[in-house]
Amino acid sequence: MTVSEEQLLKEALDTLKQTGVRITPQRHAILEYLIRSMSHPTADEIYKALEGKFPNMSVATVYNNLRVFKEVGLVKELTYGDSSSRFDFVTSDHYHIICERCGKIVDFHYPGLDEVETLAAHVTGFKVSHHCMEVYGVCADCQHYRTH
Ligand SMILES: [Zn+2]
Ligand SMILES: [Zn+2]
Repeated sequence: MTVSEEQLLKEALDTLKQTGVRITPQRHAILEYLIRSMSHPTADEIYKALEGKFPNMSVATVYNNLRVFKEVGLVKELTYGDSSSRFDFVTSDHYHIICERCGKIVDFHYPGLDEVETLAAHVTGFKVSHHCMEVYGVCADCQHYRTH
């Protein structure tokens, strides 16, 4: 793990401690996987990556742990389209572009959109909490497959 990944993991574990969530070896491993992969895995993908390490773990256990992380605000559940939920470790605000063929989700940063919240608050009188934007298309891999 890089220093910044270790820092993220440490902060996440602190959050669990502060909220009274018990840190089990599985929870530790799932968090570490989410931070390292940065690939918006499904519960199934996390399960497959960790089953060698935890032979008694089931997909349901992974789901339950992800739900706990979601409740304390460590992960976001992404439900785009009709594919199964993907999970994103919450770091800085970023946007997603989603492949319509394979369901891959890629992060990108675009700094200008805070203005949208300011404008929305100004014209509607709402107290704005957040906004989401998704961009859809066909990823480079899928474009490649199509031409062959
Ligand atoms: Zn794709
Ligand atoms: Zn993301």
